[in-house]
Amino acid sequence: MNVPNLCKALGLPLAIVVPLAGQPSEATKRLRERNKMFEPGVIQVAENVYTAIGYQVSANSMIVGSDGVIIVDPGQMPSAASKVRAAFEKMSPLPVRAIIYTHGHGDHTNGAPAFFEPGKGIEVWARDNYGSEAASVRRKGLTAGLRPSNSQGFDLLPEQRLGIGIAIPPERRPAGNMMRDGTQRRETQPPARQPARVQPTHLFSEGRKALTVAGVELELVAAPGETADQLYVWYPDRRVVFAGDNFYQSWPNVYPLRGTARRSLRDWIASIDKMVRQDPLHVVGGHTAPILSDAKEVLSNYRDAMQWVLDRTLDGMRQFMTPDELVEHARLPERFAKLDYLGDYYGTVEGTVRDLYAQDLGWFDSDPLSLHREAPRKQSERIADLAGGVDVLKQKARQAIAGDDPLGAAQLLRHVIRLSPGDREAKLLMADALAVVGERTFNGPVRNYTLSSSNRYRQQAQAGQ
Ligand SMILES: [Zn+2]
Repeated sequence: MNVPNLCKALGLPLAIVVPLAGQPSEATKRLRERNKMFEPGVIQVAENVYTAIGYQVSANSMIVGSDGVIIVDPGQMPSAASKVRAAFEKMSPLPVRAIIYTHGHGDHTNGAPAFFEPGKGIEVWARDNYGSEAASVRRKGLTAGLRPSNSQGFDLLPEQRLGIGIAIPPERRPAGNMMRDGTQRRETQPPARQPARVQPTHLFSEGRKALTVAGVELELVAAPGETADQLYVWYPDRRVVFAGDNFYQSWPNVYPLRGTARRSLRDWIASIDKMVRQDPLHVVGGHTAPILSDAKEVLSNYRDAMQWVLDRTLDGMRQFMTPDELVEHARLPERFAKLDYLGDYYGTVEGTVRDLYAQDLGWFDSDPLSLHREAPRKQSERIADLAGGVDVLKQKARQAIAGDDPLGAAQLLRHVIRLSPGDREAKLLMADALAVVGERTFNGPVRNYTLSSSNRYRQQAQAGQ
């Protein structure tokens, strides 16, 4: 008897039994394996160059100069960043002379108070469009909601949290609203206190800015990609490139599920190309462990895989393919697919293809029926009519779950729930189906969003909504 049938026989929800059965999916195993990368520690990248991994969600680096140190990306919060500082001080007791922000994201910058002391002449460097992504999101009023908290995994139960593929969940996270039993948390959480931010003291507008700090000669290079305000740090004497979030060991997050400013794959490719042309030996990414050798080859593959997806997507768009068809058309060839650092841990190739389409051609997917769409309820009425009624759809969904086809079940249940929004059993079945689909997904944000949706259906069913 397989696990779904066993659950049925025992009358237990599949979502509860699967984790207890101790048989994690290949996806869960792969994510757990990946998370071993984030054991806290300091890695020596080159002589006088150190990177801290696992203390915070982002990677934090220190370059040791003649009479001081330079910090690249101090991280997400002062308490965790002070542990990084303590670890760095074991490598060098010299004072901090400069902090460099590779971009404006809070998980790279909010830890600065642990390294910055006012009045000590510490230079804090960033590009002159620093913070442009957050500003754009704020202008549109799209700063909060379920999308970011669901896709980052903040609302999941502790045993469901495996991180986002390029970082494990932070110890302290924004308060989720889900209790262990799936009900809504009732007490009011005090708002998380925002640490004081350290603003840049030095901004630059040039494409490339030469800098000498503590006897170390560096170049800060404008490199739009993951954000428009991104830069990379080039340390020619050691052939190290600090790539910020334009590189981590995952397919790039060209389309973040959480919803934020649009990202340009074309800019991203051009920025990686600039790094390749520096002829680097080592590359320090924004979140994952540094690449200690072969950086040029790794970055070349990163660039070429992105270019391949761009070219292939444009080729398909010229043939009037729909986004669904393009996803098939632009799958990575084996020479890229086999490379773990191009795996869909954080971004996905599929999301990239769909977003390219959306950015270049907009919502119309080339299908004439998309110009004559019916309302969702009408579409579901047609499906139910074809199947022989809502009850048949529900029965088919139960069979699909029992037959280990949770995605098939979820697609049928979507129609049932649309037509009978008060059907608690349908919502519980949907919760079970999505729990399995999510558990079998190794992309962090997609997994998190799917599992959060499963929890939400269960919560609604239990609350009788
Ligand atoms: Zn980041």
